[in-house]
Amino acid sequence: MENELLNLVERLLDCGEQMALFEPRDRIYLRNQYYDLFDLTPLKSYPEISRQELHTPAEYASLILDKLTEYTRNKLGETEEQQICKIIHIMLPPPSSIENKFNRIKSTDGIINALNWYYNFSCNSDYIKIAAVKRNKSWTSESTYGNLEITINLSKPEKDPKEIAKLKSQPKSDSAYPQCLLCIENEGFAGTGSKPARHNHRILEMDLNQQKWYFQFSPYAYYPEHSIIINKNHKPMLIDQNTINALFDFVDQIPHYLIGSNSDIPIVGGSILNHDHFQAGNYIFPIEKSTMKFSRKIDNIQIEYLNWPVSTLRLNGKRSELQILTAKIIKEWYHFSMPELDIIAFSDKGVRHNAITPVLRKINTNNYQLYLMLRNNRTNSSYPDGIFHPHESLHHIKKENIGLIEAMGLAILPGRLDYELEEMSRFLEMNDKDLALIELLYDEQMLKHENWLTELYTKYTDFSNQNLIDILRNEVGNKFCQVLEDAGVFKQNEAGDQGVTRFLDGLV
Ligand SMILES: [Zn+2]
Repeated sequence: MENELLNLVERLLDCGEQMALFEPRDRIYLRNQYYDLFDLTPLKSYPEISRQELHTPAEYASLILDKLTEYTRNKLGETEEQQICKIIHIMLPPPSSIENKFNRIKSTDGIINALNWYYNFSCNSDYIKIAAVKRNKSWTSESTYGNLEITINLSKPEKDPKEIAKLKSQPKSDSAYPQCLLCIENEGFAGTGSKPARHNHRILEMDLNQQKWYFQFSPYAYYPEHSIIINKNHKPMLIDQNTINALFDFVDQIPHYLIGSNSDIPIVGGSILNHDHFQAGNYIFPIEKSTMKFSRKIDNIQIEYLNWPVSTLRLNGKRSELQILTAKIIKEWYHFSMPELDIIAFSDKGVRHNAITPVLRKINTNNYQLYLMLRNNRTNSSYPDGIFHPHESLHHIKKENIGLIEAMGLAILPGRLDYELEEMSRFLEMNDKDLALIELLYDEQMLKHENWLTELYTKYTDFSNQNLIDILRNEVGNKFCQVLEDAGVFKQNEAGDQGVTRFLDGLV
């Protein structure tokens, strides 16, 4: 048994060396670290075992864990994720080495090659969970605004009930450090029952708007090279002129990426509002293919109002001109009210309801394209979750906040839909509405789709193996389109267009 473990350590080292996680010079040193970690007795020579069809350090680490539990009761950590992290990180260089290598490649071969190297490193070190991300299901769906993109997110692991139970019995004192999931103190953090292990986390320092920020890829990428840019300090999101300056500084350094920020207030923002951050990536989003509805020239800049369900202004121009006009637009929008459209800028207590979701792309040396999505987070008695938030009738598909990524036309739908769409498909294939409804009523998880099932039986006459997947995928796409329309403060109708016009008039 111990021989098998010794061999697995060698295979793990082979794999790490092949992936250039360490220099060959360090192999003996690393081997000794593993002997110590796994409490192994070294042998003078080892029998060769046949190479397994496994390719990543994470897969080797998990095999080693299986063997360890058979062999000793050696405990490396509470969760499997923490244990795998603890095994892999031994092979990884410290953050300063990663940053130095990144900067060296950037200065000799350019930013694209440097980011490609850092991306591969993040995958090989199991920071980006490639295998998990591949489980996601995606498709495109036509809409009146162009193609929308739909993803069912199956990559984030379900919590093991045993781990949840452990969590319950754990003292609550572990919550203070790091303060949140984005804090830079996560770099190398061992993890706790409630916080993920980050032994293998390596972040890159950046200067944006004369402040320190940190760049990393997202472990559960929603799109290619999905990255997160994190403020050095744990401080709340605030979209203002400084945010816009930082976004420009980012695309000046990484011109092939698009960058954006969630809004800075609840309901219309992302899931983390207490730590300032942006999201970027090497991807063209549906909103970028949208057409212009009408335009207005202000301060030499053509402001385009888009045929897009989330009310969006697109500005093209030079950096300095855009910065000046954007400052004006943000200030104006934060104070804009139009009660007849339910847009009210401040609560009775003076709390701001209006917000902006900004997105920036660099087109060429002097030209940038800036998207400003106008948002409002007010609630009322008819819409207690938010007037400009997916309405209740759509919650069976999506009820979470419509953040930056979705507002750009890429839906991230909950993993439960994978099962629920399969069940919907089974109910429809019966081609018998009454029987299907009876079946649905027996499944508590499916109850929320009752109206949808009736709708689909009314809309279509015949369901078959050939058309079912397409029908369901298109219908989910239609629901996502309505979700985005609910999020729009100016609806795509005459009253909405007049509202935009009035807002633009206020800028002159
Ligand atoms: Zn934080």
